[in-house]
Amino acid sequence: GRTLGILGGGQLAQMLALAALPLGVRCVVLEPDPQAPARLCAEHLQAPYTDPAGLERLAACDAVTLEFENVPVEALAALEGRVPVRPGGALLVRSKHRAREKEALRAAGVPTAPFVEVRGEADLAGALEAVGGRGLLKTSELGYDGKGQRRAGSETELRAAWAELGSVPCVLEGLVAFEREVSLAVARNAAGELAFGPLVENVHRDGILRTSVWPAAVPAGTEEQARTLAGAVAQSWGLEGLLTLEFFALPGGELLANEVAPRVHNSGHLTQDGGGVSQFEAQVRAVLGLPLTDWAPLHPTAMVNVVGTPDGRESDWAAVDALPGTRTHLYHKAARPGRKVGHVNLVAPDVGTLRERLAQLEGLIP
Ligand code: ATP
Ligand code: MG
Ligand code: MG
Repeated sequence: GRTLGILGGGQLAQMLALAALPLGVRCVVLEPDPQAPARLCAEHLQAPYTDPAGLERLAACDAVTLEFENVPVEALAALEGRVPVRPGGALLVRSKHRAREKEALRAAGVPTAPFVEVRGEADLAGALEAVGGRGLLKTSELGYDGKGQRRAGSETELRAAWAELGSVPCVLEGLVAFEREVSLAVARNAAGELAFGPLVENVHRDGILRTSVWPAAVPAGTEEQARTLAGAVAQSWGLEGLLTLEFFALPGGELLANEVAPRVHNSGHLTQDGGGVSQFEAQVRAVLGLPLTDWAPLHPTAMVNVVGTPDGRESDWAAVDALPGTRTHLYHKAARPGRKVGHVNLVAPDVGTLRERLAQLEGLIP
């Protein structure tokens, strides 16, 4: 059998490992957290990402991939040339830094919100005007689930926001009046062949993804546009593996790229239960050079994230199970407030039923 090394051992690694097994592939994860979700279904190398013995073990795998973008580039550099690392360090360097990422998106012909880079205090003057008067200040690195972001509508607010974020390098983005948010994943193998995931519609709450739905309620042509843009990123960035693009869909139908995840994405979890190939299988296939085809659910599908609540309130699990078409996925993580600890997928025979049951399901998950 083949082995796939994964940098990172969180829930994405857990679900990659579960999808890899039936393909005859075992996963090895390098992850310092002793309680990492993937420990239960993969060989767990509990060590820092730069640990020489850990990297030695990964170098002996058939290929290496990653499940989060904040692995040190040195870890990838130590592996490259010894084992196929997909995606590689050059792509990672772009996608882990918001300013570099937006520049590289634009270079690929993909539009983004207006932005200015804030490297120091001097860059704050006039920055809001440059992005349209209202903006979102985001740390250039390490942000996720809306952490490391502040809104600003005046220069005073902007200065306060920058201080609150720790006066670290940031990107100020213009506030986008989007109609909806959508996402799409693309896989590309070493031969340059492309395959696409479904166009998914996403709703966020407090900066955290709350629900994803497929199919997205978008005008005809939007999915094709998203594929064109994702394909352009994959080609232009020399992707080997899988990446996901988050988009803002404007009222006129135009798409602006928000950000890139160099991996499977929370919005793609619904592909686990829609009857088609899952995004996790797609990433394993792309990374190991197995045949690739587009992957999309065969039935209307949705997902609701289960996030730790401030008051410790739990989901009504009996009612979730009793609702037709639900499948629960838990990450074996302690439910701290604001932390993703699982998700529930929902499959329905038609879009109307899906939307109806999704509203019910949302009522059961605080
Ligand atoms: P994650 O990586 O978990 O998706 P993140 O912390 O990297 O999240 P973003 O994706 O940049 O954060 O932003 C989170 C959400 O905040 C977006 O999905 C969107 O709902 C809103 N948002 C972000 N940027 C903008 C913007 N420029 N204009 C309007 N809304 C925005
Ligand atoms: Mg992000
Ligand atoms: Mg995002």
